[in-house]
Amino acid sequence: MSMTIPFLDLKATNHSYRDELVAACARVIDSGWYIAGNELSQFENEFTQYCGTKHCIGVANGLDALVLTLRAWKELGKLKDGDEVIVPANTYIASVLAITENNLVPVLVEPDATSLNLCPQNVKASITAKTRAILPVHLYGQLADMPAILAIAQQHGLLVLEDSAQAHGASIDGRKAGNWGDASGFSFYPGKNLGALGDAGAITTNDDELAQTLRAIRNYGSHEKYKNLYQGVNSRLDEIQAAMLSVKLKYLDEQTAHRRQIAQIYMNGINNPLITLPLSVNDSPLTFESHVWHLFVVRCKNRDALQKHLADHGVQTLIHYPIPPHKQQAYPAWNALSFPLTEAIHQQVLSLPLGPAMALADVEETVRIINKFGT
Ligand SMILES: *Cc1c(COP(=O)(O)O)cnc(C)c1O
Repeated sequence: MSMTIPFLDLKATNHSYRDELVAACARVIDSGWYIAGNELSQFENEFTQYCGTKHCIGVANGLDALVLTLRAWKELGKLKDGDEVIVPANTYIASVLAITENNLVPVLVEPDATSLNLCPQNVKASITAKTRAILPVHLYGQLADMPAILAIAQQHGLLVLEDSAQAHGASIDGRKAGNWGDASGFSFYPGKNLGALGDAGAITTNDDELAQTLRAIRNYGSHEKYKNLYQGVNSRLDEIQAAMLSVKLKYLDEQTAHRRQIAQIYMNGINNPLITLPLSVNDSPLTFESHVWHLFVVRCKNRDALQKHLADHGVQTLIHYPIPPHKQQAYPAWNALSFPLTEAIHQQVLSLPLGPAMALADVEETVRIINKFGT
């Protein structure tokens, strides 16, 4: 079946900046310097300014950004094996992998039923004597309720690590994703809102000591050539990808504006009673600024039929995500656990086409096809 409306056209997205990307690539090739050079420092500075944080540390990917931050806190004596980290049960598996990779214990909690983000009440109810950190995920591009989460963290002396992999530029009261927690992990996977042309990630933080530790851990544990403070890893954001990201960061806000325009058309246009729209601006104390629409996720009890209906009309959709972490084979000890809301979400969600290069006419067409579903 040929899809006339693709879920996300990455080729077209990057094609808009092709000349600049090619020029940046040539600049790196001709520089003769390919790892840990000016392109990386420049991108780190630019992303620092963009997020409003003091530091940005480029790493190889988004998973490493989370893994290495928790690892750094262990090196700094702020976390130890067996400590509990509260995380939403409906997150992408990477958030959970980062916790278990560090011999920490994920405490899965049901999300807020409307926003599908971490629910502050459930966080409170899950705190034990072993809780040391909270890992909120800004799922689908919307900031979690960070004011409430930070208040809880402060009250209980907990670290906060944001998973901002889907939320570059999302903000509440002008304070952006990446500048709420003690640290924040970003992914620049090609399909993310700020995407490289390969793998890349970064950590943002305002903590000097953490930043210094992370700079060493990503580079074999070395803060100074041939001296190793930690048993570190090799997790670097290379010069070519840093150069690609510097080009694309300039256009991020423009792309976000386009994503919001698409979301608004879906919000205003979809009126099929079988479909639940994502949290709307007016339903929440949060504002439209808090959402950068990485994904436009609707819910439908008859999700698979809806997906087939759209496919039959040439509209490509995806499911984020079909299986929650606790039901994965990778975590057999959790398979019998019950998270009814999380499980219902995984059975009901469907992500509609949305991207920087999507034509608004295709959004209107998708709306028409959705509104015909079930009639
Ligand atoms: C993409 C993603 C990650 C991991 O990023 P990679 O760069 O693919 O390693 C982590 N958390 C969330 C929520 C993500 O969407």
